[in-house]
Amino acid sequence: MAISRAECVALDAADPLKQIRDEFVLPDGTIYLVGNSLGAPPKAAAAAVARTVEQEWGGRLVGAWNVSGWYDLPLTTGDRIAPLIGVGPGQVAVGESTSIAIVKAVSAALGLRPERRVVVSDLANFPTDRYMVQGLAEALGGYEIRDVTGVDDLSGALSEDVACVLLSEVDYRTGARHDTAAVTALVQAAGALMIWDLCHSAGAYQVDVSAADLAVGCTYKYLNGGPGSPAFVYVHPDHQAAGRHLLTGWHGHAEPFAFEPDFRPAEGIRRFTVSTPHVVSYAPLNASLDIWEHVDLAAVRAKSVALTSLFIELVEELCAPHGLGLLSPRDPERRGSQVSFSHPDGYPVMRALIDRGVHGDFRAPDVLRFGFAPLYIRFVDVYDAAVTLAEVLEKESWRDDRYSRRLAVT
Ligand SMILES: *Cc1c(COP(=O)(O)O)cnc(C)c1O
Repeated sequence: MAISRAECVALDAADPLKQIRDEFVLPDGTIYLVGNSLGAPPKAAAAAVARTVEQEWGGRLVGAWNVSGWYDLPLTTGDRIAPLIGVGPGQVAVGESTSIAIVKAVSAALGLRPERRVVVSDLANFPTDRYMVQGLAEALGGYEIRDVTGVDDLSGALSEDVACVLLSEVDYRTGARHDTAAVTALVQAAGALMIWDLCHSAGAYQVDVSAADLAVGCTYKYLNGGPGSPAFVYVHPDHQAAGRHLLTGWHGHAEPFAFEPDFRPAEGIRRFTVSTPHVVSYAPLNASLDIWEHVDLAAVRAKSVALTSLFIELVEELCAPHGLGLLSPRDPERRGSQVSFSHPDGYPVMRALIDRGVHGDFRAPDVLRFGFAPLYIRFVDVYDAAVTLAEVLEKESWRDDRYSRRLAVT
């Protein structure tokens, strides 16, 4: 084999990030390769929630909006996410979900390019990204959605009526990663605005969207904010004065507590907030950001590349005759922190694997996804996961009937 289990143990011992794993709750006997879907909880998360409920809510009641900083959570938390995506303070607002953030970003972009009537969207975009653009275009009327299949298609689609382009930095299905700088430059050269979805890149490595016009992302994947933790939207400073979005809620008003009858947008990034923040959901997110504050993002990327490369190497060596096809780019530069394989019986294979303690997930029609969150996944986990996958395929354990019945969430 390419590497022995003992060599993986040695790699873990030399890992500069090894201590950070201790900051997370990971059940015994579980190899958790789904941090790209729901990150593991920071150990400090539960106490942070208890503090919010008991001391802030319980101790100060409604006064906590002022005293405990609840009112400003969308902006203070945004400023903590900003360095992870390569931008500065006052450029990121947290709140709602990614789907809603997409409405904010795309509607703002359309307002900034009023004479242009086309939104370019990738067929590979995550479905909700596409659905939200479709609903928005329908509600506004008079817009065309132009679908591309990947960035190779993009230059042909960038006519002078394109207002904005919405793409994911990392493809949720294949883990393929775009060159954000090159694509952003191409889109902007055509006079359009570039909007990046960072759901599968923020927290996986150092993202840099400082040249982009807008971006959105979620915080419950690699950022470990917890189930349903709020999303974020980034707006380039040049667009903040003129940028108006569709969701004109009272928290984005210039003076929410003046209770004026008509909407006037707040200055700066605050106008990209909408309504009462989900305060309790910010507690685990901020517990996670306490960890991120001390993480070396270059080490995160180096480890991510090493983990994903090793997994590809081991799986291809051990599982070669069993119908797996690599869907992720082989070149680590073109890959996020995820590895995907296709298999005609992908669903029962994944269920059998999960039953043996190796948690990945399945995406229709035939994709096995494995996410490698560098903060808590070890080299030895990669080794054990590959060996277990090989066993499931070799023994055809996945043929057991109970693995083929579909659960609601795959
Ligand atoms: C996870 C993910 C979402 C999730 O959207 P929600 O509104 O949080 O349900 C959206 N887009 C992409 C690309 C994702 O990966």
